[in-house]
Amino acid sequence: MYTTKQLRTDFKKGPYAWPGGYEFVWITTDGSLLCNSCLVAEKRNVLESMRDRQSGHDFHTGWEIDGFAIIQETFDSFEEAESLSLSIDFCVHCNRALNLNN
Ligand SMILES: [Zn+2]
Repeated sequence: MYTTKQLRTDFKKGPYAWPGGYEFVWITTDGSLLCNSCLVAEKRNVLESMRDRQSGHDFHTGWEIDGFAIIQETFDSFEEAESLSLSIDFCVHCNRALNLNN
């Protein structure tokens, strides 16, 4: 299980991966993506939900983080990303378009 301790460790490496300078995004236990800005803004909810999960009380709030990914590019709009024919994922919270490098 991905723990708050791992999250803190990985968070210190971010928000950009080296080499490459690509942005970290966070993967929730339900398979959604959360951008780094949203993680910072919702840190209290995330840590509280993950602590509950670690102690065996998984309330599935949607804030439980299960790891991270690295994005190659971000876009101002869905249309911009679509025009480049790239596969797009979105931040589950702010709906920002993310392009995953996986
Ligand atoms: Zn976001």
